[in-house]
Amino acid sequence: MHHGLALDLAHLPQLLKCVQDQATSFLDRVAERPVVPLAQPPQEVPLPERGVGARGGMRDFVERWEPALSASAGPRYLGFVTGGVTPAALAGDWLTAVADQNVMSSADDTGQRLEHETIAWLRELFGLTREHQGTFVSGATMSNTVGLAIGREWVGERLGVSVAEAGVAALGPVRVLSGSPHSSVPKGLSMLGLGREALASVPTLPGREAVDPMALEAALAQSDTPCIVVANAGTVNTGDFDDLRAVAALRGRYDFWLHVDAAFGAFAALSPAEAHLVEGLDLADSVCVDLHKWLNVPYDSAVQFTRRRDLQARVFQNAAAYLGPLGDVPDCVHLTPENSRRLRALAAWFTLRAYGREGYREIVERCIACARSLAASLEQIPELRLLAPARLNVVCFTLADDPTPARLAGLARELADQAFLTPTVYDGVPALRAAFSNWRTTDADVLTVIEALRAKFAATTAGPGSS
Ligand SMILES: *Cc1c(COP(=O)(O)O)cnc(C)c1O
Repeated sequence: MHHGLALDLAHLPQLLKCVQDQATSFLDRVAERPVVPLAQPPQEVPLPERGVGARGGMRDFVERWEPALSASAGPRYLGFVTGGVTPAALAGDWLTAVADQNVMSSADDTGQRLEHETIAWLRELFGLTREHQGTFVSGATMSNTVGLAIGREWVGERLGVSVAEAGVAALGPVRVLSGSPHSSVPKGLSMLGLGREALASVPTLPGREAVDPMALEAALAQSDTPCIVVANAGTVNTGDFDDLRAVAALRGRYDFWLHVDAAFGAFAALSPAEAHLVEGLDLADSVCVDLHKWLNVPYDSAVQFTRRRDLQARVFQNAAAYLGPLGDVPDCVHLTPENSRRLRALAAWFTLRAYGREGYREIVERCIACARSLAASLEQIPELRLLAPARLNVVCFTLADDPTPARLAGLARELADQAFLTPTVYDGVPALRAAFSNWRTTDADVLTVIEALRAKFAATTAGPGSS
């Protein structure tokens, strides 16, 4: 054994203690450090011929890279839709690397069984049916892509071809209808050979991002072959929801696969006051839920649920003599694009075991309350304009005067010490968004953001970015 490895192995307990100290010091400061640091990332250095050992690596990381890291695990990183890591999820994630299981085959089954227990908990959390089988994937993009792949196979089944065997050319064009799809949907369609142009945008309700069910019906009526509908439960701009019941009811008259992108919106099911937003989620053929957002587990984690595991296995089966036959309950290796993969379920298992439904209800309701409180306070600032009501956990707003992308970027930059907000364009208007999904965020953080904004507008009557 290389002497560096032997030395680290001999001192493993001290090394892990040093990792613990480093982790504690990072997390102790995560709420105070600049949310987006201005420090430049370090220069890249060449591959070392001789190593410095794990302790040396730690020193180098802390000195060169750590100062440039954002506080994305902290309470005021409100850009995109970003979750943190609960204490129990962190424990689960550390132990995932410790045990280093490959969750793929029943030849070594415990990992798959733990994943199965976790999926059953999640299915219950989101009010899905027992027919919804689930699989862990790396994120919502992959979950949407797997759902669309199963939908593609389903369209093939309707037309009497197996896309998995004959290829997508045997299928002819497939229409994919959606009101306000996430950008990962066209990306998935590109990967699946259906093409981005397969996506037909369906009009939304006036002043909303939710699909107009009548317009969807009109689009379905124009289709003489089976198609795929992507319904959206929680849009990234404004947290808007399609009427899932109304969309699902159209299946009585039209032949389509219903995929629901509920990446973060599925968590509305946890709050009795908001659960109506996801009524009908259980009617979907496939469902995407992200876990590294509102479940607050580390990247990369999401779940893909489907009622048609047989079609899923047709698409993703990995036939090999040493992996055994497919069987009635296909191994994980036959269900997603990956073959080998980590025990991704463990962080989710830990945090659900630790805090339960009740704990998650508290996180979700607190995040929603923070979003609404930010929205209400923004309305008191004359220089700002709210673009949509805070329906769930996203606040979308802009400058009352001359909201150019450059002026908004300037405003976001000036807030960067206090909070991270990301730009968007909503209904043609350049805007900023704040999304609340971190378990650490409280009222005090909302106040910090509001005070930073008030101070900004008090300091200059001319407005941001005007210099
Ligand atoms: C975040 C998000 C995605 C993509 O998720 P990744 O985890 O980044 O792959 C898809 N759909 C919606 C609605 C999202 O919010």
